[in-house]
Amino acid sequence: MRVTPQGLWCEAGDFFIDPVRAVPHAVITHGHSDHARPDHGAVLGTPETLAIMTQRMGEGRAGRSQQALGYGEGVVRNGVAIRLVPAGHVLGSAQVVLDWQGSRIVISGDYKRRLDPTCTLFEPVECDVFVTEATFALPVFRHPPADVEVGRLLDSVRLFPDRAHLVGVYALGKCQRLIALLRQAGWDRPIWLHGGLLAMCELYARHGIDLGDLRPVPMPAKRGAGGLLAGEIVLAPTGAEATPWVRRLAEPVICAASGWMRVRQRAKSKGVELPLIVSDHADWEELLQTVEEVRAPEVWVTHGRDDALVHAMGLRGVKGRALHLLGRGEEDEALEAPAPSGEAPGAEEMAAPAGAEREMGAGGADA
Ligand SMILES: [Zn+2]
Ligand SMILES: [Zn+2]
Repeated sequence: MRVTPQGLWCEAGDFFIDPVRAVPHAVITHGHSDHARPDHGAVLGTPETLAIMTQRMGEGRAGRSQQALGYGEGVVRNGVAIRLVPAGHVLGSAQVVLDWQGSRIVISGDYKRRLDPTCTLFEPVECDVFVTEATFALPVFRHPPADVEVGRLLDSVRLFPDRAHLVGVYALGKCQRLIALLRQAGWDRPIWLHGGLLAMCELYARHGIDLGDLRPVPMPAKRGAGGLLAGEIVLAPTGAEATPWVRRLAEPVICAASGWMRVRQRAKSKGVELPLIVSDHADWEELLQTVEEVRAPEVWVTHGRDDALVHAMGLRGVKGRALHLLGRGEEDEALEAPAPSGEAPGAEEMAAPAGAEREMGAGGADA
């Protein structure tokens, strides 16, 4: 396995994992655009990931040929056995398990450890080398339970019945998870969607993920008229709150669902009134827990706060290596990551989810 300008390259098998440029043979962990790029030759992925790629890129650009591999299924390429196992990140997300000449490397892509009604739970696989992301690899990042965050949203909806609640989400993954969490919490009213979110929700529904009654946000009756959807929940791609589109909504309460909402300044600078800390990435504890469970003596860190994670692993006798892969984090939460040279967020900047106060003092201690 080698790091090349195109990304991680399995030399023996002659294929790339999540390459950032078009390559002849690619294995794709999941459909986010920083992992799934257009115009590869042969693409291998789960059926869901291939469907997501085709929907987003169009028939011609999601690989000249596609090979679907379900969870647990295997193929062999040039003597390298390839298997895909669930990563728990978004629909179809997979870890790539490679066995070659008695040694095993697992490339986990993006992952989380929490239960998510819209995708299959992460499955730890013991290996010799584990490749991980480190988006939230600082001790201050402890994601609160997602149902608690959704409860805060529903409390606010009850408190402000004359206003619409607009939640900024990522179109792939966060949107559908938030809808499923709202359904679990008993919200059975229609959920209103910005046009940019409809197609992916339909794809999830086609794959058996029931999201209930979803409707497009209507056009205002008169140009420039507002006042729509008071008391309702509206989902839109992150950033829509800053466009004229938002004017049609009744005095919207601006919300956002992201792991970064833990950083209070970040929420504030984006004009978010109600930050919801809901993440599809592992938090600090979960990263360390995962490293322990896979029992790999060596862990490679693709992107994110690799310095803190490599240091913490070293204290646990695990050899860490920062890969500094380029082009990561262009779509999901890693997009909003602070510059790697930036200071660790101080305790005073952090929102305090229930039960997390105690850890606040540890902010950046391992960084
Ligand atoms: Zn992702
Ligand atoms: Zn990513």
